Amino acid sequence: MIRGLCEWFSVHGRDLPWRRRRTGYRALVAEAMLQQTQVSRVLPRFKAFVKRFPTVRALAAADEQDVLAMWQGLGYYRRAQHLHSAARMIVEQFGGRIPPTVKRLRQLPGVGRYSAAAIASIIYGKPEPMVDGNVRRVLARWEARAGATSDDWAWERAAVLVRSASAPGTFNEALMELGALICTPKTPQCQQCPVARHCKAYQRNAQHRIPPPKKAPRQKLVHHHAVVIVRGGKVLLERRSSNGMWSRMWQAPTIEADKPLRPEDVKAALPVRVYQLMKRAHFEHQTTHRRITFHVYTAKSRARRGVWRRPEDIADLPISNAQRRVLALAPSAPHHAEAGSAAGALS
Ligand code: SF4
Repeated sequence: MIRGLCEWFSVHGRDLPWRRRRTGYRALVAEAMLQQTQVSRVLPRFKAFVKRFPTVRALAAADEQDVLAMWQGLGYYRRAQHLHSAARMIVEQFGGRIPPTVKRLRQLPGVGRYSAAAIASIIYGKPEPMVDGNVRRVLARWEARAGATSDDWAWERAAVLVRSASAPGTFNEALMELGALICTPKTPQCQQCPVARHCKAYQRNAQHRIPPPKKAPRQKLVHHHAVVIVRGGKVLLERRSSNGMWSRMWQAPTIEADKPLRPEDVKAALPVRVYQLMKRAHFEHQTTHRRITFHVYTAKSRARRGVWRRPEDIADLPISNAQRRVLALAPSAPHHAEAGSAAGALS
């Protein structure tokens, strides 16, 4: 079974940039980017990132703002900060070499059990199991596990298998690839599956019932009141705190609340005095745990303090996609016309 799966992978595995040239550094970057993000979104960002920071030393020496700027569009910016810290630790404590063992890899910020096993097995050939959602589903179907599978069960099962593989990294990647391409959650392609004859779920025609559907996580509802404040062709920016979502990224001044606020309350909570405050649009932004309603305002101000930038000069700053949408309402912003029509549609 293991050999058949690996042979299938050698023919059908996707040609991905981090597979073309394998180094510990490129694997570390790829693993950080692929957490909670689809491969199609990662592809262009990965290429640009490793072009800008081609080595772990280049990344370690970079300014955090540049690293965050290169992460734009991927979301979950905490990963970029962890990756940056990991690069510094690798240079300072591991002589610039990505550690080869799971134990050492897990000392790096942001590197969990799965990413550590991926690097140790794929780059260094260690027989370490790795389990993500895809692998867990494939294993549950192979064994026809009707109920929910525990973490321990899946990791133990994967460990037994990877230790029997002559090429542990190839086996791990093949197992993940099978889950991503063939043994998909809703429509498994059992007719094309290289391990169908070993699969108990398929033999029992139970593949669509395994694993049982999960309950969606409860999302917290929050309201962000973002105000594009203009003075003489410039907009006021603020930097988020080091804690929580979008930490240390730039944004239009934003008042967060658990309910919609009245315009006068938004105005009173802003860091500078404003006039002509106007509600312009609202839109929804979802993260895994939050549903955020953005209430977008524009206003004018005569204040001097704070960080003021011309809209055309903010492209290189680390700013979340949601806040880019907000800031597109600034006059003469590069996407102003587009945002204006979006505002009309969303208001
Ligand atoms: S036979 Fe079907 S259910 Fe079983 S591993 Fe293959 S694709 Fe998945």
